[in-house]
Amino acid sequence: MSDSLLNELKNRLHEVADLAQAGSVLNWDMATYMPPKGAPQRGRALATLSKLHHEKFTDPAVGHLLDQLEAQLGDRPDDDDDAALVRVTLREYNRAVKVPASLVGEISELTSTLYDAWTRARPANDFASLMPMLEREIDLYRQMANCFPGYRHISDPLIDFSDYGMSAESIRSIFSELRAELVPIVKAIIEQGSADDSPLHQIYPETDQEAFGVEIIKAYGYDFERGRQDRTHHPFMTRFSGNDVRITTRFRENALDDGLFSTLHEAGHALYEQGIDPKFDGTPLGGGTSTGVHESQSRLWENIVGRSHGFWSQYYPQLQVMFPEQLNTVSLEEFYRAINVAKPSLIRVDADEVTYNLHVMIRFDLELGLMEGSLEVKDLPEIWHSRYASDLGVTAPDDRDGVLQDVHWYTGIFGYFQGYTLGNLMSAQFYDAALRAHPAIPAEIAEGKFDTLRSWLTENIYRHGSKFTTDELLRRATGEGLGIQAWINYIRGKYGEMYKL
Ligand code: ZN
Repeated sequence: MSDSLLNELKNRLHEVADLAQAGSVLNWDMATYMPPKGAPQRGRALATLSKLHHEKFTDPAVGHLLDQLEAQLGDRPDDDDDAALVRVTLREYNRAVKVPASLVGEISELTSTLYDAWTRARPANDFASLMPMLEREIDLYRQMANCFPGYRHISDPLIDFSDYGMSAESIRSIFSELRAELVPIVKAIIEQGSADDSPLHQIYPETDQEAFGVEIIKAYGYDFERGRQDRTHHPFMTRFSGNDVRITTRFRENALDDGLFSTLHEAGHALYEQGIDPKFDGTPLGGGTSTGVHESQSRLWENIVGRSHGFWSQYYPQLQVMFPEQLNTVSLEEFYRAINVAKPSLIRVDADEVTYNLHVMIRFDLELGLMEGSLEVKDLPEIWHSRYASDLGVTAPDDRDGVLQDVHWYTGIFGYFQGYTLGNLMSAQFYDAALRAHPAIPAEIAEGKFDTLRSWLTENIYRHGSKFTTDELLRRATGEGLGIQAWINYIRGKYGEMYKL
């Protein structure tokens, strides 16, 4: 009985996933190859697809199937695949039915137009031109939040979509705990003066940068038979299916670290998606479980592995061969310090590991203010600059490197920023657990071997897709819940050594 119901549910979910896939392809194309004037029609097509997707998923027949299956599978263990499929789909279904398809379509259409406008407004330093659309967008997200009455903070429903189980209050609490530990470390580093990162700011031809990055992510295990890399404004990873997980990157000729670490970051996201058990493909289980866990993987491969001393003891000689004029007089130690310079800066994606979370906290607070209405869009650029002055001691010359720098708000991503910091914290927790199981991992990384680490991550995180919540996954893999200590220890260890803290 339950088998035929399950098959019917899966068939319907596969069709829903097909529509989502079509939307993802159009989005990917929009951010990579679409000619500039294609934007309005593309926006309409995406809105149509997201409405169809929404209607198909919220069909009462889906709800009926889920109710029947929940009753039949209720006594299966939590880690049973079918029970997990029903549990996770039901959670998403109950969420989706509360939001009208018209609102979903309206948000999709507005954000396509807004994204297109942002790609021009940022180089032109023209925040004012985006204000009316941004105000409208915030209004639509408030309407979305109000589809879920009973929240404590108006951002809670949006945070819950990205990081299920978290809320404005729980994140504020972990952020303030983290801030208390972090601010003194940042101060101590600043007092010592920063290391020299000028070796990274010579001329590095983009094609060579690209080739070097590709070699590394192949060694990490990113499968180009099931993915590809293209260029964009603001790098991202996108999954069409388990067999087509794409990444994007960007290069700047005079900033070696920008393109290289963006590539490693997005490859980390892609390893997660390529590692999900193929049996979950085309269902709500076939994707990473939360923004935080996703960022834990991008940050783990970008930073804990990709900015480690062991890693560069293997790869730096190869980098020197590729860029002899630029690097032959730069020692491994000098290069290692250059890619790990800690100093307050203006741009989140370029920020070092220590100050990065301070950038995230600013965005998190400002977004809560926008959603609450305690902060108006017109005041955003000024508040942005004043928070950067007070939290990081730096001031951007204009809005390009201020409020216009991140794509998120201009492409409809709300309730998301906390995931970066949660991801940093979890990356250290997961890595510690992998090391407890396999103490040889750092020595293997120093030989350019990543299989043991990737296998442990696949076994304990990747293959499960969305079967477990963040908290369940963390407890199963590490034996503990979310906490700041593993990450603080990692930072103290690494930077303590470099800066003699
Ligand atoms: Zn990321």
